[in-house]
Amino acid sequence: MESQNARERILVAGGAGFLGSNLCRRLLREGHEVICLDSFLTGKRGNIADLMDQPRFSLLRHDVIEPIRYDLRPTQIYNFACPASPVQYQADPVHTLRTCVDGAYNLLELARRCKARILQASTSEVYGDPHMHPQPEAYRGNVNIVGLRSCYDEGKRCAETLFADYGRRKRVVVKIARIFNTYGPYMAPDDGRVVSNFIAQALNGRKLTIYGDGTQTRSLCYVDDLLDGLLRLMNSTELLRGPVNLGSPRECTIIDLARRIRRLTGADVSFEFRPLPSDDPVQRCPDILLARRQLGWQPTVSLDVGLRRTIDYFSGALKPARPDRPT
Ligand code: NAD
Ligand code: UDP
Repeated sequence: MESQNARERILVAGGAGFLGSNLCRRLLREGHEVICLDSFLTGKRGNIADLMDQPRFSLLRHDVIEPIRYDLRPTQIYNFACPASPVQYQADPVHTLRTCVDGAYNLLELARRCKARILQASTSEVYGDPHMHPQPEAYRGNVNIVGLRSCYDEGKRCAETLFADYGRRKRVVVKIARIFNTYGPYMAPDDGRVVSNFIAQALNGRKLTIYGDGTQTRSLCYVDDLLDGLLRLMNSTELLRGPVNLGSPRECTIIDLARRIRRLTGADVSFEFRPLPSDDPVQRCPDILLARRQLGWQPTVSLDVGLRRTIDYFSGALKPARPDRPT
């Protein structure tokens, strides 16, 4: 591992979203300058409101599908700019695909011009509905090319190809992280993802909506653990380009997740079963041997502890705004 002592000038594309805003906060705490670039498609100003007054923080509203011509001069770039929730990335699939591909190209060009390191937030979705379990980086996946999830899955696969070629041919220091389902504070309660839905439903006393019979699995990683892995990868030796799986190797069924969230919130609610969306992966769990060996990384926060912190955050975020004075 290379150390990261010097102050860097770090561009976080998608910095107003769930992962991006957590990363901006963490990088500022570590003493870096942070430029948050975001179009606010799914990100929220509220996620970065507490950072706006900090002298080392700046915000740029920009859509990454457009070339980036500002004089930013970053030394490092994290590319988080892309909706991650299936409901949100399917809302405008052509824009999602362009965000993945044109966005990666525009940020890679910026990295090349500025000689900045660049990390791509790729995804477990590149494995599609996997036939191999758990999924190692060498597995090439089972992705539907023309399905409802393809704009995201194929967009992210193509972005990985661009990163690999810029690393090989254009001498850009590239890093590819394949991120598995991550949750925590600053997720949007209405983003449609399973953790956000279940917690928001439980806190509002509504039924938890389980798609299919709930036997499909995901492996849920707490955001602070994920950020540790991303920072280690970004600051690792130039030879380690990735892709590297980052996620929790602890798999759980969706029905088990629903039961846990019901227990942790103390909500007296039942389940409502709905049809499973098309191409919904049946099983997902990362093989994290490479991250363990090369980065000395593995998640440390238990699912119950991570969910409790997320429930506390949602309890605050879902409180109805109080009027200033009685009406
Ligand atoms: P998010 O939707 O909360 O954040 C995405 C951010 O990118 C938002 O602030 C959004 O406004 C911004 N954005 C979207 N399109 C843009 C565009 N064209 N130009 C500029 N900004 C744009 O999602 P997240 O969970 O924080 O995910 C961040 C990244 O991590 C995504 O690239 C996602 O694919 C990847 N990822 C996340 C997870 C996860 O579980 N959270 C898992 C795998 C991969
Ligand atoms: N899911 C569910 N109820 C919900 C939202 C999602 O049962 O209210 C299921 C979904 O079908 C999938 C899993 O939970 O099997 C994870 O969904 P999510 O959208 O969070 O992420 P994905 O891993 O599918 O991209």
